[in-house]
Amino acid sequence: MKRYLCGFDTATLETIETDVLIVGSGIAGLYAGLHIDPHLRCLLITKTEIEKTNSWLAQGGIAAVIAKDDNFDSHVADTLEAGAGLCDEEAVRVLVQEGPENIRELVELDIPFDTNPEGELQITREGGHSCRRIVHCGGDATGRETTKRLGELILAKENVKIAFRTQLVDLLVDENGICGALINDGALKRVACSHVILATGGIGHIYRYTTNPRGAMGDGIAAAHRAGAELALMEMVQFHPTTLLSQKSSDRLFLISEAVRGEGGILKNSAGEAFMQGKHRRADLAPRDIVTREILKELKKRGETNVYLDVSSMTREFFSQRFPTIFGRCEEEGVHLTDTMIPVRPAQHYFMGGIKTDLDGMTNIRGLYSCGESACTGIHGANRLASNSMLECLVFGRRAARHINNSLHAFVPSNRFAHEETARAYRSNAEVELQHNYLRRLMSADVGAVRTKAGLAHAEAELARMLAWADESVLQTPADFELYGMIETATEIVRAASARRENIGAHYMED
Ligand SMILES: Cc1cc2nc3c(=O)[nH]c(=O)nc-3n(C[C@H](O)[C@H](O)[C@H](O)COP(=O)(O)OP(=O)(O)OC[C@H]3O[C@@H](n4cnc5c(N)ncnc54)[C@H](O)[C@@H]3O)c2cc1C
Repeated sequence: MKRYLCGFDTATLETIETDVLIVGSGIAGLYAGLHIDPHLRCLLITKTEIEKTNSWLAQGGIAAVIAKDDNFDSHVADTLEAGAGLCDEEAVRVLVQEGPENIRELVELDIPFDTNPEGELQITREGGHSCRRIVHCGGDATGRETTKRLGELILAKENVKIAFRTQLVDLLVDENGICGALINDGALKRVACSHVILATGGIGHIYRYTTNPRGAMGDGIAAAHRAGAELALMEMVQFHPTTLLSQKSSDRLFLISEAVRGEGGILKNSAGEAFMQGKHRRADLAPRDIVTREILKELKKRGETNVYLDVSSMTREFFSQRFPTIFGRCEEEGVHLTDTMIPVRPAQHYFMGGIKTDLDGMTNIRGLYSCGESACTGIHGANRLASNSMLECLVFGRRAARHINNSLHAFVPSNRFAHEETARAYRSNAEVELQHNYLRRLMSADVGAVRTKAGLAHAEAELARMLAWADESVLQTPADFELYGMIETATEIVRAASARRENIGAHYMED
């Protein structure tokens, strides 16, 4: 496996000096950036625009204990139950207890949460939660509204510079910890800094069917891994039970939020049977892995490509106001709600595993932090509870920033780093694209929501072959760097899945 993706010598590279480098412009990166001490210089880089993140797409909302009849113990218990025994309870308590104050902070930052006529926050319920606990914006546009506003705020911060279309390639680490990074904005550059926060999001695009945008492919996690960061719970990939069966070709599937079932939507098979009844005490609102597997069983039994979500208990008027984005997209696809059922199928959606961190987002490498979906704080365990992920971005993004503000070793490292590339094979863009697509099909076929020993063994052998191919390749373009990271992250997922001996949460072996 390569330590660095390309040859370089920092003596000849343009160097950008800063105190803190943040990678990622989703909610985790933006919120962390807002909390960096104004006296520290901060550079925030992102591969994409702010709109092309998982954060932008988030629909349902953010979970927090706000309702009068709710309490911390109940939110903790629901999170632990979804996590199936693999959560870090201390991290869960931090998440839950710091939830309400972060929501209050968002309100103060003018995030436009939906309110009732009395001006109080509207709170809804989602799968796995014992009571109404989810705050939302624009009905089902929580991510878009939150990210947009945080983006405006960060652009106004004098100590934070933002570089769009700029990719993290590798991290630079010496015996004292993090020293900076290699980035690519068309040219390879060095960032010299003492702290890096990786907020690089999920891994969706290593799967063929996903709700994630193209930037989410685990290449940030891979960069941390090459630098020696510990990873955790890599086998825990969450599949969302309900994505819209679309007639349009797109690189991601459109999500039908759990909140639709929270408001009364019922899953039905093609015979019209409500097949979740009797399968779990929460029926349609059972944890995602359980609902996903029940749908897959129905599909296998009937040889069909989708099941249906019956939303006829809601009026057309209510649905269009409560879920305007979903309503609009269904109309575009010719699904006229609410008397027509929505055709749905499962797809990869969220990653519980990632870069192992402590309660301050710190990794095993001094000065290297991670928060949001790229991190594994331990709060999700074997399965994420709906709407806990944006909350995680907020709570641990702020904690990471505060920890950096309080660790007074802001200095700019100046060690020289160099690496000579020994690979010799030049690959065409078409070859790289072919490998990329093959990897995605392989992961969907062999490392999905229901796994087998033979499937994992096949994936392991194929990934080893692909890694050898990539190791012999000269990597030059953003797509080359991404492909290497995807293969590396996929390899770690398969390795962890093969090592786990029991069926738990999102990891389910049929045999
Ligand atoms: C359709 C959908 C609906 C969802 N709904 C909800 C919901 O209702 N509630 C909830 O809590 N969660 C929801 N989630 C999950 C939640 O949105 C994400 O987990 C969360 O927003 C992740 O935020 P993040 O900041 O960690 O990552 P992201 O928002 O994905 O941002 C990652 C950033 O890192 C950048 N990046 C990645 N790699 C590199 C690199 N190598 N170099 C430079 N930049 C890089 C990307 O360009 C991007 O800017 C949903 C997710 C999806 C896809």
